[in-house]
Order: sequence, then structure tokens, then C-alpha cells
Amino acid sequence: MLNTSAQEEQIQEQVDAIRKGKRNPSVIVIGAGMTGILMVIKLREAGITNVTILEKTANIGGTWRENTYPGVACDVPAHMYTYSFEPNPGWSHFFAEGAEIQQYFEHVANKYGVMNSVRFNEAVTDARFKNGKWWVKTSKGAALEADFLVAATGILHHPAYPDIEGLDSFKGEMFHTARWNHDVEIGPNTKVGVIGTGSTAAQFIPELVKTGAQVNVFQRTPQWLLPLPNFEISEKAKKRLKNSPFLTALARKTSIAFLEHFFTKAVTGHKVQRWLLETACKLNLRISIKDKTLRDKLTPNYRVGCKRVVINKTFYNGIQQPNAHLITEGIKRITEKGIVTKDANGNEQEHELDVLVLSTGFNPFNFMRPMNMIGREELHIDDAWSERIKAYRSLMLPNYPNFFLMLGPNTPIGNFSVIAMSEVQTDWVIKLMDRWRQGEYDEVEAPWESVNQFNAYVKEGLQGTAWVGGCQSWYLDADGDPILWPYTWQRWVDEMAEPKMQDLMTRQNETISQPTAAAEVV
Ligand code: NAP
Repeated sequence: MLNTSAQEEQIQEQVDAIRKGKRNPSVIVIGAGMTGILMVIKLREAGITNVTILEKTANIGGTWRENTYPGVACDVPAHMYTYSFEPNPGWSHFFAEGAEIQQYFEHVANKYGVMNSVRFNEAVTDARFKNGKWWVKTSKGAALEADFLVAATGILHHPAYPDIEGLDSFKGEMFHTARWNHDVEIGPNTKVGVIGTGSTAAQFIPELVKTGAQVNVFQRTPQWLLPLPNFEISEKAKKRLKNSPFLTALARKTSIAFLEHFFTKAVTGHKVQRWLLETACKLNLRISIKDKTLRDKLTPNYRVGCKRVVINKTFYNGIQQPNAHLITEGIKRITEKGIVTKDANGNEQEHELDVLVLSTGFNPFNFMRPMNMIGREELHIDDAWSERIKAYRSLMLPNYPNFFLMLGPNTPIGNFSVIAMSEVQTDWVIKLMDRWRQGEYDEVEAPWESVNQFNAYVKEGLQGTAWVGGCQSWYLDADGDPILWPYTWQRWVDEMAEPKMQDLMTRQNETISQPTAAAEVV
């Protein structure tokens, strides 16, 4: 038998536990792409039910809703480019096409009831942290508040337009690849110009060539191509995969192992893998391009992997067709009629065009901007990042309590499935939120020391990577530092297993706990 005071204590403990267990935070997620969908599913699974997604457009899907150019496909194997909890034995190809991926996300969002949480056509214009909450304004004039704010805004979604004289003077049809204008007819004898030769261009150029159009490809820098074939998965194989979760899991694990132990290691400086990747790309160029002059034009002068390796088996064939023309003279200006190039001797030539496609990539450093974001002490996001774009563990920023930036700077982008990355980060975020739910803190943020320490740690590893191999790429920030993760995938996963509370700063009931090496290691 317990005495009265012990009984009272026990009851009080239970009441406290119930109260703590009942803390159910409100969460606003910005963006209903792959990460936003995942976040809602995982939050609900963890018992966090008060979740709203604000989506600027009329549909979910992010990248795969926006990119509809001909030939759009994912260059990460399809069975790996799926949520771990929702395998898809029905993928039609080894590398899935864009429309099929969009369908997959719509299927998942419907199946898990995500759509009910989304407010469509409502962009976040302002987000401000004040009095312990995030206050959010939207393009529809709504004002919302939440305990946590999650930016699931993606990376490659702000089209980069080239800074070329006369761009706006072109009188033909012109569009960026992420805004493909399907109303523009491209057929035999249409004169098309393409600026850019990255992963996107490599996918759609062969498709344009097939239409019989005269395709003029304006290449500033050649790319290394790894020729992985995109085979169709037969109905019989799909059936087998459907009937055997073991086989579906095996297909996924094999792809993960390939990327983890070959591709990721090759670009992060492991010698054997690097040699294999270099050899494969060089052989591909040597074998695929017969004409020496063309081959020379297509030969990069930087290390394989410095720019993101283009996974593609169709471009070299497409560019060798009689109606494809590779132009390597520099673009001088754009006119009403087309593009003027200038050769090494100073001779100018005008290439008349009906259609101009800008395959010039994205501005990856905007992240959640142009949103007007203001943290504690009136710290605007532009000021927080005035010197350099950085975040603690890619996710957290000083003076931005209870805010998480998914797929932020130094996530292992470029070498792996972004879905796998988002899953790891989502688990980390939910573990941290769980501490809030248990009443361990009211506000959590990463102080500058932790951000700087993380950045120094990352910078140390970048030296041996292919990304610092003497080329210009979207990986590099204004200082020329890649915003990527330089170590192995497994190391990243291990280090993200639990939030390290000793790195973070928490507040509760007006008290502040500063980070200290002596603090509890979780
Ligand atoms: P990108 O790799 O950044 O390529 C942009 C291209 O435009 C480059 O060839 C660049 O030349 C050229 N360019 C830019 N400004 C120019 C100018 N002023 N004059 C002449 N050329 C100019 O863009 P992307 O091809 O859209 O690919 C971006 C990323 O999207 C990829 O790296 C990849 O991560 C992702 N992506 C993925 C898939 C997939 O299957 N998962 C498919 C497509 C794209 P320089 O090289 O000289 O700068």
C-alpha cells in the first residue's frame, strides 16, 4: 500500500504525463510536393494531427507537376524513388517518367488523406516568429498561426533565366523547360533553339529531334554522360513484384546499394568508384560519338562528377541525327529573329529560330524565398543569409525557433534519392517535435556556433570531392563552395539518427538552455 502523499505524487505524475502527452502542436507545412506530402503522413502517424499545408498552385506534386517537358523522367531508379512505406510494384520503367511519378504522388496523397490538409492556390507571402508562434500570411489574405513551421519548398523550382542581351526581344515562342508550352507545335522544319545542355536538355533534345524539327543546341559547356539504359518492366515482372513484397524490397535495396556504393562514393572521392565512373563516361563518349570533331566538342575539360553527371542513354544518338546541330560558338545576343553567336575569330552568325527553349536550370539558393521571412529579433532571412547560405544540419537556423527547412543546404542532394533524404530528415524533425510534445521545451533553434561548426565540418570533407574539380555548376555557392554533403550516405543517416540536443538552444517558461558540451547527448 502507498501512503497518501506517495499516492498523490503518483496521481500528479500521471496527470503531468497525460498533460504532456496531450500537447498536440499546430504545424504549417509550406509546399505539397514530395516532402510536404511525406511530412503530413509522418506527422499524423506520430499523433500530430493539427497540420495545414499551404500550396501555391492548384495541385500537389512539386517538381513533377511543374516539369512536363518531352522525355521528362527521373534519373534515380524508380523502385528507389518511392516512399519506403509505399512501394510501387507497378512502375513501368527502370527510370520512371515524370507523369507516372506525378500519378504516384497523387495516389499516395489520396490514399493517406493528405489532400484534406492542403489549402491550394495559397502561397505563403510572410512568415514571422513572434510571441512563441509562427504567424503566417498567405496570398489569399489569410493569417494563420502555428507552433511549428516547416518549409517543404524544394530546391530546383525557381527557373533561372539566362542573362543574355536581347532575351526579351525574341519575337518567336520562348519558354523555360519548367514552363513548357505544350500549345506550341513543334514538327518537321520548325527551327528550334535550345540553350543549355544539362540533365534536362539531355532528356528532351532527342525527343525534339524525333519530331523532325531542326534542333539547334547552343552548348556553353559539355557534360559527362553515364549511359544507364531505361528498360521497360514487363507485365510479367510487374505481376511478380506485386505478388512478392520481398522482390519489390529487393529491387529497392539493389538500387540503393548501387547509388550508395558506386555513384555517391565516386563523386565524394573514393578512388576505385571514381575511376569506374570516369572510365564509364569516357568510354560512353568514345563509343557513342563517331565523328571526331563532334566528339571533341562534346568532351568536357573538367573532372567527371564536377557537374552533376547526366544519366542518359539517348542524347548522344539524338545529337548525331542530321536535323540536330551542336553549336559551340558563344552566344553574343538574342534578336527578334533568333540567336547571334560569335566565333573565335570574331565572326558573328545569326541563327534564325521559331522557338527558343531555355534549358538553363534553376536558382537553387532561393530555398523558401521570395517569402518574406522574419525570425526572432526581427532577423530577416536575407540578412541571416547575407554572407552565406547555411543551416545547422541543413535544417535549422539561428533566431528561427521551431522552424525546419527541408532539403536545406548540405543535404546529400545530387547523389541519391531525395525521397530517402526527406524521410531521414522528417524522422529527425518529428523526434525533435516529440520533445516539445513531452513538454521538454517550448522553442528550439540552432545557435550560430552550431551552424558554423556544422559548416566547418562539411567544408573539411568537400576538398576531396569531384565538385571542386574546376567547373561551374549549380552546386556552388557565391564563394565557390558546393552546398552538398561530402561524406558517405551512411554517415549522414547515422548522424541524423537523433537530434543532438547539446547542439541546440531551447527555451521554456521564459528560461533559456544554452548549448553546452556537457549537456545530455541524445
Ligand atoms: P543545369 O544542369 O543547371 O544546366 C543548365 C544549362 O544551361 C547548362 O548547360 C548551362 O551551361 C546552360 N546555361 C545557363 N545559362 C547560360 C547562358 N547564359 N548561356 C549559355 N548557356 C547557359 O539545369 P538542368 O539541366 O535543368 O538540370 C538541373 C538539375 O535538375 C540537374 O542537375 C538535376 O539535379 C535536376 N534534374 C534531374 C532530373 C532527374 O531525372 N532527376 C532531370 C532533369 C533535371 P554551363 O554548364 O556552361 O553553366
